Amino acid sequence: ERPVQASATGEDEVIDRAIRPKRLADYTGQKHVVEQLDIYIEAARGRSDALDHVLIFGPPGLGKTTLANIIANEMGVGIKTTSGPVLEKAGDLAALLTNLEPHDVLFIDEIHRLSPVVEEVLYPAMEDYQLDIMIGEGPAARSIKLDLPPFTLVGATTRAGALTSPLRDRFGIVQRLEFYSVEELTTIVRRSASYLTMELADDGAREVAARSRGTPRIANRLLRRVRDYAQVKSQGPITAEVAAAALDMVDVDKAGFDYMDRKLLKAIIEKFMGGPVGLENLAAAIGEEKDTIEDVLEPYLIQQGFIQRTPRGRIATQHAYQHFGLTRPS
Ligand code: ADP
Repeated sequence: ERPVQASATGEDEVIDRAIRPKRLADYTGQKHVVEQLDIYIEAARGRSDALDHVLIFGPPGLGKTTLANIIANEMGVGIKTTSGPVLEKAGDLAALLTNLEPHDVLFIDEIHRLSPVVEEVLYPAMEDYQLDIMIGEGPAARSIKLDLPPFTLVGATTRAGALTSPLRDRFGIVQRLEFYSVEELTTIVRRSASYLTMELADDGAREVAARSRGTPRIANRLLRRVRDYAQVKSQGPITAEVAAAALDMVDVDKAGFDYMDRKLLKAIIEKFMGGPVGLENLAAAIGEEKDTIEDVLEPYLIQQGFIQRTPRGRIATQHAYQHFGLTRPS
């Protein structure tokens, strides 16, 4: 392995790279996903084929990028990484595709944000490893066909529903990532703490895990803030008490909610009398993008039973009222 280089992206980024699991065996949780991928990878390797195209969906920070890199690693191939909004023209994608080695992984993050022209190029590439592209304009325009090496497209998206069906249908393997349990996050936090050479008590690890919104990225981020706090404010192993004090300071409460989560819940309760309220009105009330509400804020609040989505809009549940010491009016 190369030594970790200090870069302009900051210490957090460097640490992230170091603690990101590199093998399927180190990927905590997501048991069904891991079990299935393990089989498909072994089978493809046994046949000396490229792995079939993989679509991974789930909220941000659950491990989609990590999994794409693990797939390449386990297949023993290279990986090229890009994202939907970055690929503006058909030629941008063509350049990437023609640079792939046989069986390489092409990882496209936010694949639901591909432009239609770029998507058109992707269809024959995925289906027949064919590049079919127009160059030039007007009477001089001509179409070029090129054979591509067999490759694996790994697409990641926060919303499977946002994908066009022709694109979705071209993925042979579709996997959905779920929020992690507190036990799984505790394992992840412990592993990260050992990379950071932190002395973390069992109840300290659990405290961080419990406040991480079911999300490994958040767990690792909170862990670093706990590390800072402990370094300055305490001695010896980091206990639940120390972790709690550190997390209270960064305004992450016992349920793992941050300022935005609470703002959203409070808006439904106080401005819309508990709901139902439509996404549009909710977005305006808290000054947040609709997409951010749907992709980032809501999924965990729904999974934990603080919000319900009904045909007439979102409603705050009894849980949500209780969180603020209130009772839901009947
Ligand atoms: P996404 O692409 O879904 O937004 P990432 O793959 O970037 O999420 O994951 C965010 C961070 O969480 C990674 O840096 C990684 O260290 C950690 N992580 C994600 N999934 C796992 C897992 N299953 N086990 C251990 N750590 C994980």
